[in-house]
Amino acid sequence: MDDLQFGTRNKRGDWAPKAHPQIAFFWSNPFDLTKWVKFLIGYVWPWNVFHMAVTLLYWRYLLPDWETMKTLSWSWALWLYAVNGIGIFLMYGAIEFFYYWKRRQGTRFKYNAKFPAEQPSDVFWFKSQNIDNFIKSYVYGIAMWTLVEVFMLWCFANHYVYWLNWSEHPYWLTFLMFMTPVIHEVNFFVIHRTIHIPILYKWIHSLHHNSVNPSPWSSLSMHPVETFVYHGVVWWHLILPSNPLIALFQLHMAGYGAINGHIGFDKLEITEDTALDSHAYLHYLHHKYFEVNYGGDGLIPLDKWLGTWHDGSKEGQAMMDARYAKKVARANAQKQNS
Ligand SMILES: [Zn+2]
Ligand SMILES: [Zn+2]
Repeated sequence: MDDLQFGTRNKRGDWAPKAHPQIAFFWSNPFDLTKWVKFLIGYVWPWNVFHMAVTLLYWRYLLPDWETMKTLSWSWALWLYAVNGIGIFLMYGAIEFFYYWKRRQGTRFKYNAKFPAEQPSDVFWFKSQNIDNFIKSYVYGIAMWTLVEVFMLWCFANHYVYWLNWSEHPYWLTFLMFMTPVIHEVNFFVIHRTIHIPILYKWIHSLHHNSVNPSPWSSLSMHPVETFVYHGVVWWHLILPSNPLIALFQLHMAGYGAINGHIGFDKLEITEDTALDSHAYLHYLHHKYFEVNYGGDGLIPLDKWLGTWHDGSKEGQAMMDARYAKKVARANAQKQNS
């Protein structure tokens, strides 16, 4: 595919999309039926259909039975760790293999022309972003994800929380299912913005930001505290009356879905003329500039409302620069006063 039909490339070879990401259309135009249809298709297809398919696979074949999960034990916890680990290896590994190792589409649609393998750095274990991020994904990311999952399933197994049935509460559960991306986005914004408070950033979140040019294995390479609160989005289903299937779906949207912001390519070419949209640009800009785009795709556009939205346009850049200049002026004023 010719990526220059969709974007521009600068002197360094970095590619940027011509069409800037937009917040969800209904905030400005809620009654446009055609846009609703288009939006709803994109809302479920393909990523959420994928997460639901994986969730059903877990539900049907991979989860231990509910009687077993009534008692906490290492055996089923380690089983789930292995299941999550293998699942992530297959999904993230496939994207890493084809697009970063085999480089099947070269740098077409790639935001940063460099591949992490070409940029050894002291901030990483073994000076390698790939090895460092891979190990931390397993030792921190997936371990904490599994811990959250085990606790959630144990609560449901013992009926310590509401477990609503689909036959008795179809409307509420369907509504809740549709709200999972909203819950994800708001929850992510709040915890992510919080760990950007300087002291928490230094202690917790800087580990994830070591990857300025993120790639698939950066997705779950987080400090244990961060990955615990990130996957803790599932607590909403222990507070609200819910169902473990929806809770598991919510958890997968966080675990398997973390890759979306870190793919590094705007589109993944599947065939000669079909490609998969990654939805990675806003979070790519977050890794590049740090203090913009704390949230997701603008479904609930908290960044827009709070002035931290950067869509890659000149206006977005000017707003960020102005905020930064104000911050520097404030810091200088404080220095003079002390
Ligand atoms: Zn990230
Ligand atoms: Zn961040």
